[in-house]
Amino acid sequence: MALALQGQQALNQWRQDGLADFLWRKPGKLVVYRNAHKFSKAAQSVSSPQQEQVLTPVECAQVEPAFAGLAPTLAGGIFSPDDEVADCYLFCQALLKSLQKSREFQLVKGDATLEDDQGGRCRLRINGTVWQTDLVVLAAGLASRELMQPLGQRLPLYGLKGYSLTVQADPAVLPDVSVTDYDNRVVYARLGDRLRIAAMVDIGALNASPDPRRLASLKHLAEETLPAAGPYASATTWAGMRPATPTGVPLVERTQWRNLLLNVGHGALGFTLSCGSALTIRDLVEEMQP
Ligand SMILES: Cc1cc2nc3c(=O)[nH]c(=O)nc-3n(C[C@H](O)[C@H](O)[C@H](O)COP(=O)(O)OP(=O)(O)OC[C@H]3O[C@@H](n4cnc5c(N)ncnc54)[C@H](O)[C@@H]3O)c2cc1C
Repeated sequence: MALALQGQQALNQWRQDGLADFLWRKPGKLVVYRNAHKFSKAAQSVSSPQQEQVLTPVECAQVEPAFAGLAPTLAGGIFSPDDEVADCYLFCQALLKSLQKSREFQLVKGDATLEDDQGGRCRLRINGTVWQTDLVVLAAGLASRELMQPLGQRLPLYGLKGYSLTVQADPAVLPDVSVTDYDNRVVYARLGDRLRIAAMVDIGALNASPDPRRLASLKHLAEETLPAAGPYASATTWAGMRPATPTGVPLVERTQWRNLLLNVGHGALGFTLSCGSALTIRDLVEEMQP
């Protein structure tokens, strides 16, 4: 939570400094519950009524009219007005554009590997060529496991496969607020004139190849929940691996190699925690300065 809040503040500052064009908005997030028991438990755990407003089904429909059709099936909802949304791909592009303004910045594309230099440091190769580096920050998602293997360290990471649909729709029918259908574990987020729907956790998946049955089931659920934004048959589909740790806490830390830091294992919250993790890495780098 602290990492997410620090990141939110940092992102706020970066936006003020000119980082733009990644469809950032602050529409708030509404989590709707169909099951009365789960809703009651969630409502009882609210600690700050200003940051989390407990709503009746009718109030849920008022907060997000695009989901008004669901109201009769709901037990209630919890609305967090401070929640933000943005397009993570456009965010990465905006960051890259900003970094490219610096003459010191260089983007090297290729396949990276790590090896032990036997002197307490690691060596970085890209496409087979050794790069002289002061510091390496390993942030290769689930593949970080393979990258650490030659160093003899096993990273406690496992992949949770998830799916998403993206549809282009008439902005008039799209929700403004991000909505989580808690019982079905589906998230609906508007990105400009598109709606992104993300869901599902396949534990133990070996790769990110999409399972057509899972996609069909997600399309069916979206069609039932928010038919106006469909049809979903022609939605852009995607599957990806969330790189998770057993405790759910990401590994943003130093290693036994003096020039190697880890920034991995953010699970289902990689975008949410990215800016906070970047600040932690910055602090670690500053501590390491001679
Ligand atoms: C369906 C779905 C929905 C999600 N929704 C959200 C959300 O709403 N909010 C949120 O915060 N998070 C969300 N996530 C989680 C988020 O996507 C991940 O936490 C995040 O992508 C992890 O970032 P990462 O950089 O650690 O790993 P990755 O995104 O996997 O990136 C790793 C990068 O390293 C590169 N790489 C790997 N090996 C090498 C190598 N040997 N050499 C060079 N490069 C290499 C890869 O090409 C890749 O570009 C979602 C995930 C899924 C699957």
